[in-house]
Amino acid sequence: MFKKTLIAVSLAATTLASTSALALEKVDLLIKNATVLTMNEDRTVFEQGLVAVKGNKIVAVTNGKDVEDYQAKTTIDADGDIVMPGLINTHTHVSMTVFRSLADDVPDRLHRYIFPLEKKLVSRDMVRIGAQLGNVEMVKGGVTTYADMYYFEDEVAKTVDKIGMRAILGESVIKFPVADAANAEEGIQYALNFIEEYKDHPRITPAFAPHAPYTNTTEILQKITKLSLEHDVPVMIHLAESDRENEVIAKRSGGKSPVAYMADIGALTPNLIGAHVINVDDNDIALLKKHDVGVAHNMSANIKSAKGVAPVIKMQEQGIRVGLGTDGPMSGNTLSTIDEFNQVAKVHKLVNHDRAAMPPLNVIEMATIGAARALHMEDTIGSLENGKLADIIVIDTKAPNMVPVYNPYSALVYSAYATNVKHTIVDGKVLMEDRNMLTVDETAIRKEALEFADKVRKTVVESGEVVQ
Ligand SMILES: [Zn+2]
Repeated sequence: MFKKTLIAVSLAATTLASTSALALEKVDLLIKNATVLTMNEDRTVFEQGLVAVKGNKIVAVTNGKDVEDYQAKTTIDADGDIVMPGLINTHTHVSMTVFRSLADDVPDRLHRYIFPLEKKLVSRDMVRIGAQLGNVEMVKGGVTTYADMYYFEDEVAKTVDKIGMRAILGESVIKFPVADAANAEEGIQYALNFIEEYKDHPRITPAFAPHAPYTNTTEILQKITKLSLEHDVPVMIHLAESDRENEVIAKRSGGKSPVAYMADIGALTPNLIGAHVINVDDNDIALLKKHDVGVAHNMSANIKSAKGVAPVIKMQEQGIRVGLGTDGPMSGNTLSTIDEFNQVAKVHKLVNHDRAAMPPLNVIEMATIGAARALHMEDTIGSLENGKLADIIVIDTKAPNMVPVYNPYSALVYSAYATNVKHTIVDGKVLMEDRNMLTVDETAIRKEALEFADKVRKTVVESGEVVQ
């Protein structure tokens, strides 16, 4: 039904084609009458703009005056809605959706609650079921690319392949026994097999994900660094996140900070993406810049856990690659970066005592082109420009909370909800149209997640085996 009303074959273009076929540029998808936020270098905005897509690439982004020059298989009339690059979530653990809202405020939660919970319940099934649900949540929240760290990442990869998203998927390496490896060496081998299997996938980049500096040995961190350079794959790690990490690393390294320690052992490279990066001083920031490390900034998770606020404004002043992330859905409780916008803007203002400290455009940059830079993917995604991959979202500006729009960046940061995302396109393919999922069965996915939640209740909540 919605297909007929919303994405109709462009009759105007078809009629024109019969008379002047040679003059028309044939494209697969045309989005017209849009407020286009290109996020290109000049941050160009087109008021009545268009975006044309051929195959999986953007072939034109214009002010819309040339709209009659195109003959499109599918046309979306945005009717003034905001069209922008798909959002990029630089840090998550997508499968943890099935644990969302458990023991939110337990002290020392990672060690007292999450690790014991995972020991009991992480399995191939859990990873698949959680990832399916998280993928739907992200597509419905406008996220087109995400960077994930978890176990059984080959199961996550299958779900990403099916739904049609783009992702960097990092197989976890940690020094104690986990569901898919008895020790860190086995974790590395699991990651190597996964890298071999997915290295040529068009939308999935396999990666290493050592959990954190303090949950791995120096030897393992160095081995992963060496292998990542040999295989030219990313390494994702929780970095400078917690007091416990500071203490363990200081003891191990004779008083060094986690970032200085990582630099010392040769583990800071352009392949590295550090999540959180809260406990850093000027020297650490200079090291991150020197080694061109990407940073995933997870505001809502960091303030919920009272861990602190990463000095992102300082990092940006130094030209460090910073993108927004949500962290896992047990930490930030959402996977949609739109839900981060408001908090990112306001908390940086508050901690800097400066209303102008974090303008809305900076936040949108960190969700799009900045996030692409953090993942070292800025050549292919993060902005709407000729030749880039067609990852595009349309934001409904008719929803009551979005009326009126004087400044689209302000509207997005201070007013928008994830539910205002109307269409999500990845690699030129429409994954969500008018909030309906086209590539997966959302109802079946929710049902499976609820069935798993029953198992969680029986296993850990009702038995009281894991501390609440
Ligand atoms: Zn995390």
